[in-house]
Amino acid sequence: MPIVTTLKADFYSSVQNMIHENEVYGVKRKTPSFAFDKLCATQELCLDYDITVLPPNQYLLPPTDPLITFNLSPEVSIRSKVESRATIILGIHAYDLHAIKLLDAVFTGNLVDVNYQARRSATAIIGVDCLNPWLYSFAASMGTALPPSIFDLWLTDLGGEYLIEVGSSRGQDLSKRYLKTKSARKVQIRQRDKFRQDSLNRYQLSLDRSAQEIPEILDKAWKNPLWEELGEKCFSCGSCTMVCPTCVCFDVRDKITLNLKRGERYRLGDSCMFDAFDKVASGENFRPTGTDRLRHRLYRKGKYMLERWGELGCVGCGRCVHACLVDIASPVYAYNRLVKEATQWPSA
Ligand code: SF4
Ligand code: SF4
Repeated sequence: MPIVTTLKADFYSSVQNMIHENEVYGVKRKTPSFAFDKLCATQELCLDYDITVLPPNQYLLPPTDPLITFNLSPEVSIRSKVESRATIILGIHAYDLHAIKLLDAVFTGNLVDVNYQARRSATAIIGVDCLNPWLYSFAASMGTALPPSIFDLWLTDLGGEYLIEVGSSRGQDLSKRYLKTKSARKVQIRQRDKFRQDSLNRYQLSLDRSAQEIPEILDKAWKNPLWEELGEKCFSCGSCTMVCPTCVCFDVRDKITLNLKRGERYRLGDSCMFDAFDKVASGENFRPTGTDRLRHRLYRKGKYMLERWGELGCVGCGRCVHACLVDIASPVYAYNRLVKEATQWPSA
């Protein structure tokens, strides 16, 4: 696939044309933060952000997602509800794209979720290199600071122009339709590689071991007192999971009209940090304490998702580190503490 360049001024005019013809979601400045939102004008777009409050997967897995509608009277009938429309997400960072790769494995692997799949296939992804990483991010040490090859177009800011890597035939179509490009010169590709390398060196948080060792570290840590130390401070508020790009759990509920004739079944984002999440019909709770739930969350991120779907469940974005009011949600802090204490406590 080609690598091209476009002048910044030309790129922003192209975005205006994209917005006229498509539903485009991009990053907007929402002082003091940044957030993905629907773009109405090219001036709203901000590509040199550090992090968005919520990840872009809200467009693939909306917080409330209708699944089926049904009639109960005069006859029972059920219709699946699959909502998708052609969409462009503009300005995704590499760690969030790694998270989408994991969502793809979860929702389009052995069990295909038709709602997710329909939205995913209708979504074009235009990403951008994060050259000034966020204070709380540790993506470089999770191996997620550079993009996996599932993008349509990928931008790198070279100063007066963007270097654009085309990653798919859809990306090629977008490039032909909207962008004014020239083939990239070798020197520009080398400049991109240097900018990327410099950005990797700017991360301030990092794991003390390689990300691949996390499952092994966790294997020996079930009884570590760290879980109690952190868990007893937990409010079970769920903020750490609500901002996480790899959290995929949901509840399914029915909404029925007052006359009991029609209804809708929908899913709703849920959190394993909520007390009610593990409660079953008999009233028992599999993870009754904050300690149980916090440990489960960090095992799921660092071990269970890898074993089930082949990707670690943490991409190191750092959103949970910032979101937790009592400063206990950080995977990098927990895994580094476990590395330090690995030899001091008995295994499970
Ligand atoms: S666990 Fe925290 S750092 Fe890891 S992906 Fe989720 S929000 Fe980001
Ligand atoms: S770890 Fe922090 S953010 Fe997560 S549920 Fe507990 S208190 Fe809330």
